[in-house]
Amino acid sequence: MPQIRVRFAPSPTGHLHIGGVRTALFNYLYAKKQKGKFLIRIEDTDRERSREEYEEEILSGLKWLGLNWDERILKQSHRMVMYERSLGKLLSKGLAYQDPKGSPAIFFKVPKKTIKFFDLVHDPITFDTSLFEDFVIKKSDGMPSFHFACVVDDVRLKITHVIRGNDHLTNTARQLLLYEALEAKIPKFAHLPLILNEEGKPLSKREGGGSLGFYITKGFLPEGVLNYLALLGWGPGGDEEFFTKERLIKKFSLKRVNKAGTCLNLEKLKYINGLHLKKITHKEYLAQAKLYFLREIEDETKIREKDFLKCALLYRDRIKSFNELQEMGKYFFEDFLERDPEASEKYFNDVTRPKLREYAISLERIDFKSVAALETHLREEASRLGVKAGELIHPLRVALTGRTVSPGIFDVMKLLGKKRVIKRIKEVIEIKGA
Ligand code: GLU
Repeated sequence: MPQIRVRFAPSPTGHLHIGGVRTALFNYLYAKKQKGKFLIRIEDTDRERSREEYEEEILSGLKWLGLNWDERILKQSHRMVMYERSLGKLLSKGLAYQDPKGSPAIFFKVPKKTIKFFDLVHDPITFDTSLFEDFVIKKSDGMPSFHFACVVDDVRLKITHVIRGNDHLTNTARQLLLYEALEAKIPKFAHLPLILNEEGKPLSKREGGGSLGFYITKGFLPEGVLNYLALLGWGPGGDEEFFTKERLIKKFSLKRVNKAGTCLNLEKLKYINGLHLKKITHKEYLAQAKLYFLREIEDETKIREKDFLKCALLYRDRIKSFNELQEMGKYFFEDFLERDPEASEKYFNDVTRPKLREYAISLERIDFKSVAALETHLREEASRLGVKAGELIHPLRVALTGRTVSPGIFDVMKLLGKKRVIKRIKEVIEIKGA
């Protein structure tokens, strides 16, 4: 058996589509499982639309996910001599011809026949090429067409398996004709199910979740995204859902890839990412929170790194992504607090306000360093005021965080510090209808 060689071949004409990432991942897993090679080829033959910054974004996205490639990256725009050589071969054999209308474009003469191939996901597939028209293999701007460059390079790179999206199925039929014309060895093919949006339509790059950037800016972990994407169109059989990259490599097989399209489900992603957030070590968790902070928090005057990390620790079991932390920790990061109006109406009234006032006064002499001491103190105050602890805690939570749900209230108090706690209690005592 020759060594398995697969490739991911993005066109740098836009942001990295999440379907592309999933294709890269399946190629990577397939290669690694069999100790093969995973290669990257940049298909930049579209001169107008290809951009250096997209290429960088694609490569840094793959690195972020840990999908590291094995050999030097091949860039199609650097391989013009190779394409010309192969074109010459087809022209001299009479299998291609110059555009009769006089443009410099070259067409491939489609032989009329039935092509059969065995797809590793879809089983046997048959195409009748009499339905195809002759197609361009060299464009009038001198660049090779997608089909032609793709085949010449897959041959050159000795690709053994072409694993790509279902949208390439008819391209495969045309490309098989080119392999035959070039008398090259034909690789095996596997076409992956498309990723669909909630309406069952192919997911576009512009939709939420359509490009990798969305997941990075929302503060998901690379491990979580990788795990979730693996489950988009593949399943190990059974209930197992939590996968590390190593486990995926062990379990992955093309045999278990679905034929039908698969729907993006961001709730499931959050769930899976949450599992990874719980599993990683403390040190890794903080390192990831820090990376997120450095990358995504633009206004550092509003949120300080130290505060963000403190909050990250407190919310570790509650968040599913770091941008949720930014949202949930708003009461801590910002001075101005908007309180839930319904909760305010319920908890701030003529009965609770005087108790909160007494409590706030008593806090002046308390040390905020110890969560346990804060708790003991609150319970003592409650009994002194003749109320149950909850009758202080519930309004206190809304006063401090604006919400009815938060981590332990004494942890929150410690996080906010004495000055802010007292200030916030005063706010709800003083502002009528706060
Ligand atoms: N450049 C093509 C794309 O972005 C890749 C096609 C292939 O994998 O062969 O869809």
